[in-house]
Amino acid sequence: MSIKNNLEKFKMLMADTAESFGRNRESVELLAVTKTKPVEYVIEAYESGQRLFGENRVQEAEIKVPQLPSDAKFHLIGHLQSNKVRKACQFFSCIQSVDSLKIGKKIDNSCRELNKIMDIYLDVNISEEDSKSGFKNDKELLEIVDELVLLDNIRIVGLMGIGSHVNDSSKIKNSFSELITLKDILENRFPILKDLKLSMGMSGDFKEAIEMGSTMVRIGSAIFGSRI
Ligand SMILES: *Cc1c(COP(=O)(O)O)cnc(C)c1O
Repeated sequence: MSIKNNLEKFKMLMADTAESFGRNRESVELLAVTKTKPVEYVIEAYESGQRLFGENRVQEAEIKVPQLPSDAKFHLIGHLQSNKVRKACQFFSCIQSVDSLKIGKKIDNSCRELNKIMDIYLDVNISEEDSKSGFKNDKELLEIVDELVLLDNIRIVGLMGIGSHVNDSSKIKNSFSELITLKDILENRFPILKDLKLSMGMSGDFKEAIEMGSTMVRIGSAIFGSRI
């Protein structure tokens, strides 16, 4: 398996997909999800030109991030526990998995100490699976955003969602459209939230996500092979 080949093929497929839905070829970013994969894979992807990486565990990032040049940027895409916030703020350039006010405030606090501003996405549960983390209703989310927008060391840049795990394109698209509705609601209500990004789409549903307006797809197995 050549990661370089897989990456190039996938990027072509992403661009073609965007174009087929009337979108600009460059309008969707690729987050290469390297969780559970050895750092050599990350380095090979970096050497093939990839700069954006996704990891779901802080402990794994702690080992991998220092082995990459500083222009490799890592996004946290997995649920974040309170006791790992400080480390997460050191190793990640963006936290896509903010799913509570408490975590948002902790990130803000740690980043104040570290003298940085963290880009965050709000993790929204759009897949109707109770076990998943993420905000579950609009009212809860709006109340929390009321407070999060006041914090100086975090910047809400977008919404993240995991599509429904079903084999039905229209159901998958319905779940993504919930994220889009929420984006519109937030942008209308909070003038400082402009052009929120949409992190949606994985190896199995990136086409639906791109059709619906995703600005970043998070791709693991389609590039690095399946995880056991
Ligand atoms: C693992 C993971 C991905 C990538 O999944 P693939 O199906 O391997 O592309 C994307 N997003 C999140 C939140 C993940 O945990």
